[in-house]
Amino acid sequence: MLDTTQRFHRLNVARIAAAAVLIAGIPMVSGCKNPFHRRTVATVSPVAKPASQTAAILPVDLTKVQPNEAGMVPILEYHDLVNTAKATGYQYSSAAFRKDMEWLYAHNYRPVSLSEYVQGRVDCPAGMSPVILTFDDALKGQFYYTPDGKIDPTCAVGILDDMHARHPDWPLKGTFFVLTNGDPKLPPAFYQDQYAQGKMEYLVKEGYEIGNHTIHHRAGIRHWSDDQVMAEFAGAVKNIQAMLPNYNVNTLALPFGVYPKNQKLVIDGQSGGVKYHNICALLAGAGPVHSPMSKDFKPYRMQRIIPGNEKFAIKYWLDWLERNKADKYVSDGDPNTFTVNTISSGKLDPAKIAKAHLHLRTYNGTTVASAK
Ligand SMILES: [Zn+2]
Repeated sequence: MLDTTQRFHRLNVARIAAAAVLIAGIPMVSGCKNPFHRRTVATVSPVAKPASQTAAILPVDLTKVQPNEAGMVPILEYHDLVNTAKATGYQYSSAAFRKDMEWLYAHNYRPVSLSEYVQGRVDCPAGMSPVILTFDDALKGQFYYTPDGKIDPTCAVGILDDMHARHPDWPLKGTFFVLTNGDPKLPPAFYQDQYAQGKMEYLVKEGYEIGNHTIHHRAGIRHWSDDQVMAEFAGAVKNIQAMLPNYNVNTLALPFGVYPKNQKLVIDGQSGGVKYHNICALLAGAGPVHSPMSKDFKPYRMQRIIPGNEKFAIKYWLDWLERNKADKYVSDGDPNTFTVNTISSGKLDPAKIAKAHLHLRTYNGTTVASAK
């Protein structure tokens, strides 16, 4: 059954590389994997609601931290992890994943919540840079129990648990775009049917998020009727909520990057008595995303970065952000404020800031505008 899923996800890294030439105006490669399907989607305003917050905010010397919350953030897109030396995009080695996490930690990245990021609530310590971790398809290498009932230390959840244990300031945050046992032709969630619900509950309890990745994972959705499309999105919500009652499924990764003809259905719809509302839709390739308060931030066209050693994969973009510090997001440590330097403040969208009820300031403490 693994091969069935794998066939859906053949990467053509060269195509992605060709698409990702410039950081500004990078051609959009829609959806979870398939670089052949480029789509445009109508620009939609972010749905910004105040998120629940947060730990006590300690006084921060902003002139030392020099926050740049108009900067860009990498969203990493992982699929399976395997215990082999090969490191490809779809089946990435556990050792390479661990190395990625350690590199991020050493370079002052900390994971943040995708849903909070989209809504402008970036909960990241002062001076640190947000990174968003995503995992598609509920694969074995993401979350697996060994025969003795322990979490496999080489799966993604096991490695992230270890990261958190050794680095307590590395929070357990990330989004799992799951396939939800709704299609008998696909493998069960995380390849262990008997643990599917327990794993979902564990992930949410630990601080991860669960996202919509449809029921059937089919590219043909672009030819489907509105009713069929809504049944696919709402059905995935229903299946997730069967395991996680009342869980708010509000993030979406489109399989193959294929949008339905009626692109508004990515945002809202209903079927079978189940309503859905997505605050964002994630793409594949290639490059970091803009600040959620930027004029250029498009919540329904959020790009991701694939793993691997190829050009325009993870190493390329993380190195790019190190070389281009002015474009790298640096947090002020307070999710309720948005701190920028006076130059980068011009990149921000006042309407988005007002909608998110954020306090905007420069890093010398001067209030640029207040949107209370
Ligand atoms: Zn997928």
